[in-house]
Amino acid sequence: MRFPSFPTIIRTFSLYNLTRIHNLPAAYRAIPAPFTRNTTVFRSMPTIPFLGSLFGSQQKDMTDYPVKKSDDEWQAVLSKEQFRVIREKGTEAPYTGEYDKHMPSEGTYTCAACQAPLYRATHKFKSGCGWPAYFDSIPGAVIRHTDSTLGMERTEITCSKCGGHLGHVFKGEGFPTPTDERHCVNSVSLNFSKEDKEA
Ligand SMILES: [Zn+2]
Repeated sequence: MRFPSFPTIIRTFSLYNLTRIHNLPAAYRAIPAPFTRNTTVFRSMPTIPFLGSLFGSQQKDMTDYPVKKSDDEWQAVLSKEQFRVIREKGTEAPYTGEYDKHMPSEGTYTCAACQAPLYRATHKFKSGCGWPAYFDSIPGAVIRHTDSTLGMERTEITCSKCGGHLGHVFKGEGFPTPTDERHCVNSVSLNFSKEDKEA
């Protein structure tokens, strides 16, 4: 048998590797080699929480939100910073947001992405944390999710209409509010209207 020509060997090798790599699920491909060697152990683990805590990546939100847009569509209507915070679950720098020290006596804070009413001015309180703080939301306006990124367990909040990331809820901090909860929300996730808007 004739030995295959050099280009044939290269082509075969490349195809083999491409096939091998592309047959793996995307998340699995991202795992460094030491974690993939013992596949039996790996497969016995709860995949998504394990990956989330290992890489600090965002967990997939499987909620069926009524407002659905692709990343391209969101990028067309949001600023770069809004897209980073709202769609990529980023956090704005503390003490910099437009609504941090904004304390109107009436009006409504709405979702910057889909305009759904989220918080009333009367829900807002001064927490000193550097982000707008609310002790409650308009009923049904926000959805809570367990967020296990950054090596801790927090409660993430998203807009119930479009799934846009708002921030996190913290409990039991001792603020003198009716709920003892603090919805810590990024200003860029919000707009403000002087009107009292209903959900
Ligand atoms: Zn929204």
